[in-house]
Amino acid sequence: MESTLSPAILSGRSVNGVRSEQGMVVHVVRCNAAELKSGLVKHAYTLCGRTHGDKNDGWALCSDAAVTCPKCRKKAEK
Ligand SMILES: [Zn+2]
Repeated sequence: MESTLSPAILSGRSVNGVRSEQGMVVHVVRCNAAELKSGLVKHAYTLCGRTHGDKNDGWALCSDAAVTCPKCRKKAEK
């Protein structure tokens, strides 16, 4: 299946119902068309090798965001 690279942040970490995307590290995940459409990627590794873990829903895609993880940025440049 064709896959795309997209910037993404951890999803499901809302504390007190407030969703804070500021200060979160923006990684890059590989996703397929269906995940791109839903905006959420589960069971995926970022380019730097991170998973979203058990406490988070997955990776929330944010295609407009600037990637702030230096490792992901470097690998995505290729
Ligand atoms: Zn990363």
